[in-house]
Amino acid sequence: WKNQPPTLRAVAEGAKAHGEKIFLVYEDERVSYDAFHRAVAAFAIELQAQGVEKGDRVAVIMRNVPEWVVAFYAAASIGAIVTPLNAWWTGPELEYGLTDSGTKVAVMDAERYQRMTEHFANCPELKRVYVSREVDEIAHPYVAKLESVLGEPNAWAGLPDAAIPPVEIHPDDDATIFYTSGTTGKPKGALATHRAVNCNILTAGAASARVFLRKGEAPPAPDPNAPQRAALLSVPFFHVTGCFAVLNPTLFTGGKLVLMFKWEPIRAFELIQREKVNLAGGVPTIAWQILEHPAREQFDLSSLEQVSYGGAPSAPELVRRLKEVFPKSQPGQGWGMTETCATVTSNSGEDYQNRPDSCGPAAAVAELQIRDPADGKTVLGPNEVGELWSKGPMNARAYWNKPEPSAQTFVDGWVRTGDLARLDEEGFCYIIDRAKDMLIRGGENIYCVEVENVLYDHPAVMDAAVVAKPHRILGEEPAAVVTLKPGAEATEEELRAHVAERLAAFKVPVAIRFWKETLPRNANGKILKTELKKLFQEETA
Ligand code: ATP
Ligand code: MG
Repeated sequence: WKNQPPTLRAVAEGAKAHGEKIFLVYEDERVSYDAFHRAVAAFAIELQAQGVEKGDRVAVIMRNVPEWVVAFYAAASIGAIVTPLNAWWTGPELEYGLTDSGTKVAVMDAERYQRMTEHFANCPELKRVYVSREVDEIAHPYVAKLESVLGEPNAWAGLPDAAIPPVEIHPDDDATIFYTSGTTGKPKGALATHRAVNCNILTAGAASARVFLRKGEAPPAPDPNAPQRAALLSVPFFHVTGCFAVLNPTLFTGGKLVLMFKWEPIRAFELIQREKVNLAGGVPTIAWQILEHPAREQFDLSSLEQVSYGGAPSAPELVRRLKEVFPKSQPGQGWGMTETCATVTSNSGEDYQNRPDSCGPAAAVAELQIRDPADGKTVLGPNEVGELWSKGPMNARAYWNKPEPSAQTFVDGWVRTGDLARLDEEGFCYIIDRAKDMLIRGGENIYCVEVENVLYDHPAVMDAAVVAKPHRILGEEPAAVVTLKPGAEATEEELRAHVAERLAAFKVPVAIRFWKETLPRNANGKILKTELKKLFQEETA
């Protein structure tokens, strides 16, 4: 691997060296590294035979199944730009993704295929569709069954031992378009090069493989005899967290990746026990659900060495609870975004215990600045709150097909993040809130996350979101939606008093609503605040 340029193709070729070790586990399917490599080669040959050329977009639209990984690496290995689309999207949303990216070939599972049938006609650039898993009827001449090329995952070991067809790929060629989560608006496709994606594998993303490098640190020597580590993937492949922070480093380091049909705590416990999972997490909610689930103690979870998460704010209380419940495991938190190809900062070990509200320092190759949000230029000093800017070779280079937002976000190698943050004297980063989530009550700034963290501190609270409630004179006031832990009780007055004891009076939510289940979230585990705001819209004071 060492002598190859950093491309996704090189990562796929590297898989072969891990031979019969198991790479992917899904239900009763087990795919070895060798079988995976054969499947990647077979599908790359197929794509090339169908005329896929460098720079063509190949969309991957599936749940977390082994075929997703094969399609991703096969397309990237022949220089196509892989475009994973959100499997939660409806037909019209998928149509947006396919037309926005100008996708030529799409690989999807039967569920997505059914959802799309009426929309194919509106995707003129789409020339071929591969459908996997339980398709009843194939209604279109350009549609083929993926199984007719690859067979079932358990049979991939019997595919010919072919080479991935030769295509010259430069590290600065485009590799992927990942769509943002759409938390604050319509999802945008972030275009990243092979170098950016690989940089993430080698530095930041590899935090999960314990080789996160800070400035001045040398990479550890690889240990071929190290026991194989197993990771449980509980977030979707189609966002950067699942693909860049978990899948790619696992593949690169020869680990085992355990997939789930969908996230479900009891199923996760079963899999952690059965597959001796070392690394779990994804987003903070998942870590909370592992902690709070009453059935947790019926399972042997002693293999867990690391519970890592990122992508959304996590209360300082989370790391304390994790350490209590899993004293032998390492909690870890990271910050990143689609536009930075996932992880830029990482905080774990003692650092995280000591600074439970920090997402950590930047990776060795990255640089962070806090700038005045008003001009986007003036660099602020330690502990001053402003907008976070992030620079590094892992950054995406533009939004696909969107020149104006691109020019605002991608500036001289920096990404303007839209997050409010501060950096302490040692360079530890503290995300305060999204600039769009800060609310202003009669001129006073209120960071929703700060109030949420105090709510999380209350022993009865499992889930909390603070949103703006419109006010005629003050403009906005803080209001909260809260889910209580199973069996726990707390009244609105009690929670308001809890906040009032800890924060200035103007930050205390004027209204608190109780929600029965976990709060509504998008596929990336982020609370859909626009939904929750509606609860308070009519009640303008
Ligand atoms: P969109 O850009 O479409 O509105 P999104 O910003 O949610 O959606 P992502 O790229 O998936 O899409 O998420 C990146 C954002 O997630 C960051 O800008 C930040 O607000 C939030 N985030 C990521 N990691 C952390 C973290 N450790 N702590 C707090 N917030 C985080
Ligand atoms: Mg964003």
